[in-house]
Amino acid sequence: MPIKNIAFARPMLGDEEQSAVHDVLSGPILVHGPKATEFEARFANFTNAPEAVSVASCTAGMHLVYTAWGLGPGDEVVVPAQTHVATAHAIEFTGAKAVFVDAEMETGNIDIDKIASAITPRTKAITVVHYLGVPVDMPQIVALAQKHDLRILEDCALALGAYVDKKHVGLHGDAGVFSFYPVKHITTAEGGMVILKNRDLAKTIRLLKAFGVDRTHQERTTPGVYDSLMVGLNYRMNEIAAVLGIVQLRKLPSFLVRRKDNYEYLRNQLEGLPDSFILPQPSDDHLRSSYYCMGLLLDESLVPSRAVIREQLQAKGIGTSIYYPHPVPRMHVYKEKYDYNEDQYSVAARISDGVICLPIGPHLDIADMEHISAAIKIVLANKAI
Ligand SMILES: *Cc1c(COP(=O)(O)O)cnc(C)c1O
Repeated sequence: MPIKNIAFARPMLGDEEQSAVHDVLSGPILVHGPKATEFEARFANFTNAPEAVSVASCTAGMHLVYTAWGLGPGDEVVVPAQTHVATAHAIEFTGAKAVFVDAEMETGNIDIDKIASAITPRTKAITVVHYLGVPVDMPQIVALAQKHDLRILEDCALALGAYVDKKHVGLHGDAGVFSFYPVKHITTAEGGMVILKNRDLAKTIRLLKAFGVDRTHQERTTPGVYDSLMVGLNYRMNEIAAVLGIVQLRKLPSFLVRRKDNYEYLRNQLEGLPDSFILPQPSDDHLRSSYYCMGLLLDESLVPSRAVIREQLQAKGIGTSIYYPHPVPRMHVYKEKYDYNEDQYSVAARISDGVICLPIGPHLDIADMEHISAAIKIVLANKAI
């Protein structure tokens, strides 16, 4: 078969982004500027969020939310084992403890039935991650949080364009945090956004992300005159990133259509394939995915061959990835810190060890999906692996 060059992900930056960045660089304002404010307004409009606060990254955004909630030593946050380390790091950096809960097999999302037993008198919040863009069933999380008087943070790093009951993810809990890292749905190189319903919380986060100072650059009548109200960080989004975000957000609807079309085509081609299971991506009025990638879960018997299978796909020009390489409690830093119990996170481990993430991004078309499905059939049929 012909060799193609199909990257797992590629930033979709073109002339519009180039000229928008050029305009910012030609002007005097690089931070504290109108572009970040405009991006926030447009993002709030897209998600229908009452408040949107631009930040330096998703990790920074989560750290700000936990800090604004006043989390610290002695507090606990329930968090899925199947996620990016950042989800747990943002908790631990406040001094609070990340309490991991296993994934469910069907979606890779947090196993909702196992959350209650992880809640203790020290628990302050539940954090969920919409794994691969598949939304967590938020009404169930909201009910649990209400019952135990807990806050909810939604890590939406892979879920821009995902909805639960037609409401964008990030608005079901108390805060939703997005990532604009290059491989995500849209990119600002590095960047993130926090969306919220509570105006006071938004105000605190705005203070915390800029040294706790009481007035922004634009609000200062006399340059250099300001006061600091609280101990804060510097987690702002700069104007170059913001202008990228504005252009990218305009393109997002077409990106999402392409992702869905690619996923559906590939799923139809691979359905019924022996030795593997396709993690489903729902698209109905209750749960609507953002189609981050296709998770192909290999049969137990093929798990030891995963690296070889990925190499063979790469040899046919197909880039793949793994989300995520370990359940977070199996990552060195957490294994050292807390007792790692293999049985407790067996589903997350099964997914981490057995999944191959296939590309369906907007840089690819149906012909690419055809190539991927043909390659997978050949590679998996090759019993020599
Ligand atoms: C990528 C990712 C992050 C980190 O995002 P940054 O913007 O790089 O900080 C956090 N959580 C999840 C689930 C991710 O996939």
